[in-house]
Amino acid sequence: MALDSKVPQGPIKDKWTDYKNKIDLVNPANKRHIDVIVVGTGLAGGSAAATLAELGYNVKAFAYQDSPRRAHSIAAQGGINAAKNYQGDGDSTYRLFYDTVKGGDYRSREANVYRLAEVSANIIDQCVAQGVPFARDYGGLLDNRSFGGVLVSRTFYAKGQTGQQLLLGAYSAMNRQIARGKIEMFNRHEMLDVVIVDGKARGIIARNLVTGEIERHSAHAVVIASGGYGNVYFLSTNAMGSNVTAGWKVHKKGAYFANPCYTQIHPTCIPRSGDYQSKLTLMSESLRNDGRIWVPKNLEDVKAIKEGSKRPTELTEEQRDYFLERRYPAFGNLVPRDVASRAAKERCDAGYGVNATGEAVYLDFSASFERYGKEQAKIQNISNPSEAKIKELGQGIVKAKYGNLFQIYEKIIDENPYETPMMIYPAVHYTMGGVWVDYNLMTTIPGCYCIGEANFSDHGANRLGASALMQGLADGYFVLPYTIGDYLSDDIRTGKISTQTPEFEAAEKDVTDRIAFFINNKGTRSVDYYHKILGKIMWDKCGMSRNEAGLKEAIEEISALRKDFWQNVNVPGTETEYNEQLAKAGRVADFLELGELFAKDALVREESAGGHFREEHQTEDGEAKRIKEFQFVSAWEYKGEPKDAVLHKEELVYENIEVKERSYK
Ligand SMILES: Cc1cc2nc3c(=O)[nH]c(=O)nc-3n(C[C@H](O)[C@H](O)[C@H](O)COP(=O)(O)OP(=O)(O)OC[C@H]3O[C@@H](n4cnc5c(N)ncnc54)[C@H](O)[C@@H]3O)c2cc1C
Repeated sequence: MALDSKVPQGPIKDKWTDYKNKIDLVNPANKRHIDVIVVGTGLAGGSAAATLAELGYNVKAFAYQDSPRRAHSIAAQGGINAAKNYQGDGDSTYRLFYDTVKGGDYRSREANVYRLAEVSANIIDQCVAQGVPFARDYGGLLDNRSFGGVLVSRTFYAKGQTGQQLLLGAYSAMNRQIARGKIEMFNRHEMLDVVIVDGKARGIIARNLVTGEIERHSAHAVVIASGGYGNVYFLSTNAMGSNVTAGWKVHKKGAYFANPCYTQIHPTCIPRSGDYQSKLTLMSESLRNDGRIWVPKNLEDVKAIKEGSKRPTELTEEQRDYFLERRYPAFGNLVPRDVASRAAKERCDAGYGVNATGEAVYLDFSASFERYGKEQAKIQNISNPSEAKIKELGQGIVKAKYGNLFQIYEKIIDENPYETPMMIYPAVHYTMGGVWVDYNLMTTIPGCYCIGEANFSDHGANRLGASALMQGLADGYFVLPYTIGDYLSDDIRTGKISTQTPEFEAAEKDVTDRIAFFINNKGTRSVDYYHKILGKIMWDKCGMSRNEAGLKEAIEEISALRKDFWQNVNVPGTETEYNEQLAKAGRVADFLELGELFAKDALVREESAGGHFREEHQTEDGEAKRIKEFQFVSAWEYKGEPKDAVLHKEELVYENIEVKERSYK
């Protein structure tokens, strides 16, 4: 199948405007006759559902949590980018576009990214109008902070709870429509298949997670907004429930899946403490604005710290290696995420890791306490302040900026990060790969759209922060509501879609058969047993550092693990009750398929890109050599064993990104 990105012709800066001027529209009276299913009510799905309902469509929204407020988006801490240039530091739509394309290692679709940068400013206005309490500066204007890999301050934030506040905004907008009857909300419902009628997505099969009932839902279009699949690694900073199932089901029904192996590894997470851990916790990247990252220069000090005979605070400046400042003086601690992650791993692999597992470096705020403290003493006219007073004043400022993050850290590690430097280590955080979509955000199944983290289009091999929230909200508030209308304009006379058709029946049967299998298998091993093993294979062989031999092993190991899973998995309980293990079994079954595709993608992609370091392409100074672009799209329709994937390989012209436009034809 030839993929058509449907990117409009013309200069990149005019594409979106010209496109909007020319698309077909659905008039307000006709929107009332059109139904849209939105699977997922995080920032992407929540904003899309609210906006589509506001426009007049009848929306059915689905989430597996008990409320849209619990979507994983709520965990986002650091902030959201927008090209407002409030700081007057040289930002612009073009610069945000350029930084995002460069941040994606030149592997994102430029036309989508330009559109994203264009609408970014609208997102902030929209959210402020909803009452999102973004941080403000002394004069009352919206404040910004800087994130890694860029040279301007364009990240809008709400303390360390940006995702939560944005989600409450989207949720309020949804609630208005729920009250009007324009959104029918199905909490605690999990989509388990998409239904295709005459080649078009016309509905879904969902399971009521409380009663176990299997339900058919029809619509004129289906929007997948189901988030990322970082939990294929078992341990990640994602919410425990985050999964690939919705995206995977549409993939298996014919939607292409792109860049499955592109995963963002975040440098500042609380280190793993042992083998029985089921979740990793992020410490926001914003902390790198004020924290300095270091390990001891001498291995004797590392040993003493591990044994407890020395505390990190006892080491003098000369005894510390601020390795990011040393290696990357221009960006210092604010290098892109991949660079910071690799540098930390390199130090830990060399034996300088400071905790029991040897997988931790310090993130130290003492210099900021002093800098802010002295400034505050001046502002408050305190002459000759003592060291203790300076520290106290400085800590007050840091607390105001990041207090909740320090609190999270203390609760988990049981150490006061105001007194002892935090320990951090890279962890799986965000997945850039996902369901392939064209410029309209439509998958290769007509009428099936995919938005937010679940799709692949805007981030390439992303190394930056604060761009995921931007994409989710851009898709939901400002892009999909236009593009879907162009498609739905053909459906104004279609009328209700019946669920009493052979297509719905067949999809429902597939779902019930699979559930019956899990309940009746009565194997000997728990679902988590398989998930943990899969996660270890993924981290060891498809993680930050990858090589050909390891990836080939991973493919075989995952395949064998999947076979074992289908023979020996044990799911307790019944299908007619709330059954977490049953829900998880389905998700892990999908992870076991995705994991193999992931490793195949990584194998054929003979490159280092984003957070992925292909060992065969290591340069002399230990950096990853960036080589030609690969664009990988899987044509795997899973029917028994995987078929060979299709690989589209294109040359990339690194400069001149404005005139260059890739098409996936
Ligand atoms: C700890 C952490 C911090 C982050 N901080 C930032 C940040 O500061 N800035 C930034 O830009 N990005 C950040 N990110 C990334 C960002 O939070 C996510 O990319 C983004 O929130 C994803 O939004 P989403 O709407 O696509 O998906 P989600 O918020 O994950 O929502 C998914 C929705 O889909 C539903 N769903 C899933 N599967 C099904 C199914 N089968 N059936 C029914 N419903 C389903 C869920 O119930 C949920 O409602 C962070 C990520 C993490 C892990």
